[in-house]
Parts: sequence; C-alpha cells; structure tokens
Amino acid sequence: MDQFVQKIGAVRDRAAELQVRASISSSQPKQLIPQALAELETALEELHVAEEEMRVQNEQIVIANTHIQAERQRYQDLFEFAPDGYLVTDGAGIIREINHAAAKLLNAPQDSLIRKPLTNYIELEQRQAFRTQLNQLHYADRLTEWEVRICPRQGATIDVAITVAIIRDHQGRPTILRWLMRNISTRKLAEETLRKVQLQNLQLQENARLKSHFLAIMSHELRTPMNAIVGFSQLLMRQSNPPLAKNQENMVERIFNNGKNLLKLIEDILQAAKIEANSLELVPQEFNLAELITEIKAEYHSLTEQKNLDFKVSLDLTNPIAIIDSDRLRQVLVNLLSNAIKFTDTGGVEIKAWELPLDQIAISISDTGIGIDQNDIKHIFREFHQVNQTITRQHGGTGLGLAISDHLVRLMAGNISVKSKPNRGSTFTITLPRKVGSH
Ligand code: ADP
Repeated sequence: MDQFVQKIGAVRDRAAELQVRASISSSQPKQLIPQALAELETALEELHVAEEEMRVQNEQIVIANTHIQAERQRYQDLFEFAPDGYLVTDGAGIIREINHAAAKLLNAPQDSLIRKPLTNYIELEQRQAFRTQLNQLHYADRLTEWEVRICPRQGATIDVAITVAIIRDHQGRPTILRWLMRNISTRKLAEETLRKVQLQNLQLQENARLKSHFLAIMSHELRTPMNAIVGFSQLLMRQSNPPLAKNQENMVERIFNNGKNLLKLIEDILQAAKIEANSLELVPQEFNLAELITEIKAEYHSLTEQKNLDFKVSLDLTNPIAIIDSDRLRQVLVNLLSNAIKFTDTGGVEIKAWELPLDQIAISISDTGIGIDQNDIKHIFREFHQVNQTITRQHGGTGLGLAISDHLVRLMAGNISVKSKPNRGSTFTITLPRKVGSH
C-alpha cells in the first residue's frame, strides 16, 4: 500500500515538473506534447505495475484473513464444545464468555450468564472466601486445583476444581481471567466413600480385636473351673470310696463327658479367636510322622472298637522325619479322625501317609460313613457350619474343628481337600511341605 502511494506521489511530482517546464520553456507547446505524452506513458506503466502488485497483495490478505477466520472458528468450537467448563471473566469476575459445559454446570442458558458475576454461583457459605481469593488472584499468575462448591440455578450443589489463568494489561493490572472448571463431585463422593469404608474397617478391626481379647479372657476364665470339674469327676469315677451306686456312677460319667465336651468347645473357641487375631504362632520341631500316626492310632483304637469299626493305618514313607509344628498337626489329624469315627457307623476308618514330589507329604483320613453332599462340601470349612443339625447334635461337636484345621494347615503352607459321597464315606487329604518354610 505504501509503495502504491509512493508511486502515485512520483507520477504527481513528474506531472508538476512537466507543467513548470512548459510554463518557462521557450519552445512551442506543440514540441512539448510528444515529450509530455512519453512521460505520461511511463507514468501510466509504473502505475499499472503498482496496481498489479497491490492486487497480489490484496489476494494474499484475503487468503490470510480466511485462515484467521478458520482458526478463530476452530478455537471457538474447541472452547464451545470442550468437555470441561471454560469461562472468561474480567478482573472482577464478571462473566464475558462461557462455554456449553460451564453453562451446564451452572444449569443456566449461556446467554443469561453473560455479564453476571461468577460469585453469584458460588455456594453461600464459600462466597466470602471466594471473593477474598479472587482479590488475591491479582498478585498471582495462575491458580490451580482450587476446590469450590458451586450452586447451580436449580439442583444440588456441585464440587468443582478450578484453574485460573490471569491476563494482565501493559500496566500489570489483571484484565482477563480465564477459568477452567472441572466437575469433581464423583471423585469427592468416591473419596468420601473411601474415607467411610476406611473408618468402618478400623472399627471392624477394633471390634475383632476386642472380640478376640474378650474370648481369650473368657476362655481362660472358663477353662480353670472346667478343668476342676473334669478332673474331679474323673477321680470320682476311678477311685470313689465307698464305691458309687450305679446311677451315681452314670451321673458322674455324664458330668465328666459333658465337662470334656465343654472344655473342647472352650479350647476351640480360644484357638479360633487366636487365628482370627493372627496371634497363633507355629512352633516347628523335628519329629517322626510315622510314630505320631501310630500314637494316634493307639489313642483312638478303643473308640473304634466300641463302634465295631475297622481301623487301618498304611504308611508309605521312605523318610518319616518332618520339621513342622507336630502338636498342631496332631490336632488336625485328631480332628479329622474323630469326625471320621463320629460320622461312621459301619465299615471302618483308615489313615494313610505317603510322599509327594518336591519334598511334600500327604496324609489322608478316610471313612465309610454318612458322607457329605456335594453342595455342602464347600461350606464345611466355614466356622460353626454343620451339615445336618440333627445328626451333629446327636454326635456333639462345635462346627469349629474343620475351620481351625483348615487354618492350621494353611499356616503350615499346606492344603486340605475332601472327596465324599453320601452314604459311601469321605476322604480328607492333607498335603504339606515336610519342612516349614521350605516352599
Ligand atoms: P464338628 O465339631 O461339628 O464336627 P467340624 O468343623 O469338624 O465340626 O465339621 C463340620 C461338619 O462337617 C460336621 O458337622 C459334619 O456335618 C461335616 N463332616 C465333617 N467330617 C465329616 C465326615 N468325616 N463325614 C461326614 N460329615 C463330616
């Protein structure tokens, strides 16, 4: 453009010069005309070139303008359809532009929000703090993750996280604030739920601790008098002088048997409480597994005899030595064996032991008793679960034995499995590492 103006200026200067020359020239105007025409032609050509240049420049400007328009539209679209809320306010927080998502958050039509103070949409209790923070913005460049609760025109309040960018004029005064608003209600809700669950967990842990503590104390307090009842009733049965009458003997025997059952229940509850509180510790020691099983057989022999049951033991151990907590293993085997005897009326029971690869040992206890229905098998390891209340009531028991055995075997890094058919019998198999901590 400047170039064009220069060119016109140059042509005008030449014309003026020509006029001056004509007025002071002594030659005839006739002679001056061709010269003037030549000058004019040159000037016209120059003008033509300048015009062409200007046309090209104009075209470039039009193209650039179209680009700018397209870019502006693109940014406008991005602003408008962004999933997060975007707002532009002046330094005092008066809304100048607001996108679709932000208007949705404030639950009002976009147009109606223009020229409104943003403060109007902040929850009443937070409004003063918001104003103070807004004034503080004048001293910052940017503020991120500012958590605010907004109250839309209608509907429930919403938690949002705000990021503000501050644009200043050349004197450093904040003139434009660009706001990004993200709805964090779901996150807040999740945080709140998590906090509640954590609190509940703590409470549950505390309850479990108190329960275990209570059970441990109670079991201990009950065990002492029960030991006296069982001990003295046994003494009475064995060496009463003068001898007891038959009906008295029966009564003492019942005191003894019931006392023993109660003692077993107390022991089981105490142990289950210890397992639950994770305070049961194993004491591994070296022992002979074959000897342990033979001892158990000797102990339970009379019981199987009373019920007219066969009692077989088959051991297939090249190395019978194991290093695990033998008392706990005995407890598990005794529990499985007494169940086998308890739930079998004809046939017999059998204990087998053999070796497995990777220095593992397997012990199974089978019976030809009432068996367990497939649907019940998955429940029998649960505490206090008894399959058939009438049968189990006849036989006694707490429903804790298998749960405790399962825990103990798992503490030994082993596992118990069951195979059973109703009226055919059951086989409980334990597999576990020969040495504790070796796997
Ligand atoms: P309980 O003290 O009642 O025997 P357990 O936890 O040892 O408690 O056993 C749970 C239930 O599993 C028993 O009540 C019984 O119903 C079933 N059960 C366990 N062992 C056998 C078995 N060998 N034969 C049939 N049922 C069994």
